[in-house]
Amino acid sequence: PPVELPIHDAVLGGAAGFGDRPALVDGTDGTTLTYEQVDRFHRRLAAALAGTGVRKGDVLALHSPNTLAFPVAFYAATRAGATVTTVHPLATAEEFARQLRDSAARWIVTVSPLLETARRAAGLAGGIREILVCDSAPGHRSLTELLATTDPEPRVAIDPAEDIAVLPYSSGTTGTPKGVLLTHRQIATNLAQLEPAVPAGPGDRVLAVLPFFHIYGLTALMNGPLRKGATVVVLPRFELETFLAAIERHRITGLYVAPPIVLALAKHPAVGRYDLSSLEYVISAAAPLDARLARACSERLGLPAIGQAYGMTELSPGTHVVPLDRLREAPAGTVGRLLPGTEMRIVSLDDPGRDLGPGEPGEILIRGPQVMKGYLGRPDATAALIDPGGWLHTGDIGHTDADGWLFVVDRVKELIKYKGYQVAPAELEALLLTHPGIADAAVIGARDADGNEIPHAFVVRRPGADGPAEEEILGFVAERVAPYKRVRRITFTDTVPRAASGKILRRQLRERT
Ligand code: ATP
Ligand code: MG
Repeated sequence: PPVELPIHDAVLGGAAGFGDRPALVDGTDGTTLTYEQVDRFHRRLAAALAGTGVRKGDVLALHSPNTLAFPVAFYAATRAGATVTTVHPLATAEEFARQLRDSAARWIVTVSPLLETARRAAGLAGGIREILVCDSAPGHRSLTELLATTDPEPRVAIDPAEDIAVLPYSSGTTGTPKGVLLTHRQIATNLAQLEPAVPAGPGDRVLAVLPFFHIYGLTALMNGPLRKGATVVVLPRFELETFLAAIERHRITGLYVAPPIVLALAKHPAVGRYDLSSLEYVISAAAPLDARLARACSERLGLPAIGQAYGMTELSPGTHVVPLDRLREAPAGTVGRLLPGTEMRIVSLDDPGRDLGPGEPGEILIRGPQVMKGYLGRPDATAALIDPGGWLHTGDIGHTDADGWLFVVDRVKELIKYKGYQVAPAELEALLLTHPGIADAAVIGARDADGNEIPHAFVVRRPGADGPAEEEILGFVAERVAPYKRVRRITFTDTVPRAASGKILRRQLRERT
């Protein structure tokens, strides 16, 4: 059943009861906020925001890397009745301004290192009433100052079914980012749907290295663990050695990551220098994860398997997860089982009305309480995504097995059509990564001299020893796949461009061809 609670109550309803337990720990300097503090601070701050003029329905832009203040500011804003639009901390002033304008934001909460960008964005967008800083900066009120308020706690009537809690912008992997309207009920219900599969409790310590501003980090590393009394150890960015050191020092029990981190854990020599024995589970989501890579990672970490989850911003975000108590029996490569209360269909790509059975790949359609309310100000794009029957067309290709485990193949839009055959870039990328001389790889569809689409690989060679030559890589792939799937062209490169969520930015690669 849907959860009819505002997000701050759904998450922090039990916070006072967790008292002195550590809620948030700074992974670099060890600074800690207890549950009692998070509860008290976010209520005080909500009062101060209301006193400042924040009203129900106002959009507040939260522009910050992962810090201890991020969740406090987030729940304070929703308690004051605001909708939080989370902003990529690396956004340029122009990108930030576009989001401010599109969302009609009135307030910004930022951090001093990003203040200049926030100021420029506010100037470009207009309509911003105040820029607050989490830490401190001359000329701006800080959260610490606001906490001294004597204003009463606001009593805002929130309708969980209608009011928008979060307005994240989709990652922009396939087009310009769109504002995704997620209600309190959608977010709270999805948390409750996910919880039995990935239980966390007061003894758990998760490492928040994925960004809170993205719906995956927001759900898996902030809302989920804080709802259950777990400890969230916060890192501002992914840097391998700091990340490994934090796992060791804080005896981290659970990791939520994206495939590039699984790759690093499986292959990087530095991993062997740290004691990672506290880890009980690792869950990957946001992009395709190859089963062989997952196995190499779990073997190295001494875990039964790497779990996966599947979802998208427009789905609040989860629909599938491998329940932790079924990791051993789950087939390799699965993204999990359908969450309770959610329906799925897999339909033919050629004949979209036709439902497919187990083993047949097609487009994944989802219906359930977590389907977004819509894209902000984009009825056309909303109608293109959600059909009149309420089914959301994910744009992802997948199939189930006879037991109902889902496998995601790739995105419909990214399939390469080679002489009429469909080639999934994710499959070739995974294969390339099994080559010992290859550190990273991405595949896109390019045009050959006759204008036909061909698989074109961008390859990052392992540093140090002589990397494999083009001929060797082409041959390596050719020996292992059907002829139509062969890589036809290779470009060597230093890095594969990726979004914060770990997704390959194929548009940027296309511009290089
Ligand atoms: P945009 O919609 O703006 O182009 P995006 O789709 O990349 O950006 P997100 O909502 O962050 O934005 O990502 C959702 C997508 O991530 C899914 O549609 C799917 O393609 C991919 N994805 C998520 N989880 C998995 C997974 N476990 N395996 C494979 N792909 C996944
Ligand atoms: Mg998308």
